[in-house]
Amino acid sequence: MKKLAEVLKDWEAVIGLEVHTELTTLETKMFCDCKLSHDDPPNTNVCPVCLGMPGALPVPNEKAIESIVMAGLATNCEIQRHSMFYRKHYFYPDMAKNFQTTQGPVAFCMHGHLDLEVSGEGAKERPDNTGVEKNSDGSYTAPIRILRIHMEEDAAKMVHVGGEEGRITAATESLVDYNRCGTPLIELVTEPDLRTPEEARLFMEKLRETFLTLGISDCSLENGSMRCDGNISLRRRGETRLGTKTEMKNINSFKSLHDALEYEICRQAEVLEEGGIVYQETRHWEPSHKRTVVMRVKETADDYRLFPDPDLAPFDLTDEFIDHCQARIPELPDAKRDRYIATYGIKRSDAALIAGDPTRSAEFEAAVQVAGDKVAETVAKVMVNLVPSYETLSANQIGSIASLLAEDAITFAQAREVLDAVQESGEDPAAYVDAHGMRQSTDTDALAAIVDEVLGRCVDQVQQYHDGNKKVLGYLVGQCMKAAKGTGNPKAFNKMLSEKLEA
Ligand code: ADP
Ligand code: MG
Ligand code: ZN
Repeated sequence: MKKLAEVLKDWEAVIGLEVHTELTTLETKMFCDCKLSHDDPPNTNVCPVCLGMPGALPVPNEKAIESIVMAGLATNCEIQRHSMFYRKHYFYPDMAKNFQTTQGPVAFCMHGHLDLEVSGEGAKERPDNTGVEKNSDGSYTAPIRILRIHMEEDAAKMVHVGGEEGRITAATESLVDYNRCGTPLIELVTEPDLRTPEEARLFMEKLRETFLTLGISDCSLENGSMRCDGNISLRRRGETRLGTKTEMKNINSFKSLHDALEYEICRQAEVLEEGGIVYQETRHWEPSHKRTVVMRVKETADDYRLFPDPDLAPFDLTDEFIDHCQARIPELPDAKRDRYIATYGIKRSDAALIAGDPTRSAEFEAAVQVAGDKVAETVAKVMVNLVPSYETLSANQIGSIASLLAEDAITFAQAREVLDAVQESGEDPAAYVDAHGMRQSTDTDALAAIVDEVLGRCVDQVQQYHDGNKKVLGYLVGQCMKAAKGTGNPKAFNKMLSEKLEA
């Protein structure tokens, strides 16, 4: 198969995503008051409604409607004042009612969009002059339209026992756990506006950051509370008609989403270039083999006998309700990122990384409170480069280590050493540094004396430096550090040595 870069020169990849998100932060299910939980014993959180007993009547969960409206507002959707629930019929043991309650042509949220900022290596996947303007550093913004976000309910979890890989085909028994059945689920469908695997990955990431910030879900791809199907087709550059798409299932990480789409783009290109036909089919991504395989071929449209649910009255959302949802939306990642850049002058990529995760940004803001606004830039560096390696650091510890770094009292390597030592005890890094004599001298008179001594002694290296071998500076810094017995700051030595040598 050809490589992605080569394929995308001749072909345009057209990608649309369908993203399911369980509203895991709610207390109860969508149409009954059974508890929402991931880890209770099987079939303990069930009732006549979610088991589909005859005569049981559903009552919609208002908190779930609140969550989906917040999701819609945060993704620039038009909130529909009037919509209703439909029944989508199918027979399978994971839904005892034999229909899933979902929405029809009008969803609570319609016609939104998210703007993606694509930069770095990933931006190169999109060839130049293909619909977006690229900046001088190769980065670009891609507006991605969202068709709709609708409300539905999850099905029960099935476990297939006795076969390899837990697949139903080889199983001797199948077990059903109805705890998950009736879990509030929102499905977001994009327009086919994505053009590269990287854009798809970024869209999913941005959606996850947005929903996490809204607090409507734990958004775990690994545990399946956020799931994504990738639809992909190819067309010759310049062609405006859509090609036949395939749909990729079983994507449980951002990397899988990227790699599955990359593989599928290359596979389809090969089929088409050999004069073959792409069949409309559902394919399964096999991460271990890095390939997609056919799951089922779609020959006819599915007939779900969709009709309005007679047990659920149509919804009329009031302006008050929508205003109430709007008021509950916290500062979203993009706004937060821009505020960090404007207030603290933090590097854009660091600011985006911190602002994208509500836990991380709360930690960052608490640490800045401790260390002071002037140190915010160093706090950001600590958040991005050090904190992810540790499980239990308090805002005080993060603020303290950032202050030490900002004062050049310790090196980055020492910061790691200190955090290793204090992460569990909760001890203050500054106190630890003092107790262990690690604080590096910034007393310039003492350091200057050492620099003079080293320059006087290392005559050969000084000569080499003047002959153009600037690398010996590192050796000289080392000599100074040795003379200072580890209490001198390498950055300070570096600066003083350079100044003296260039004088
Ligand atoms: P289906 O009925 O097969 O589920 P939909 O029309 O509901 O298809 O679209 C599902 C997703 O596939 C949407 O995200 C949509 O943008 C995307 N999509 C539709 N047609 C194409 C196509 N030809 N190529 C790529 N993506 C497509
Ligand atoms: Mg669909
Ligand atoms: Zn129930």
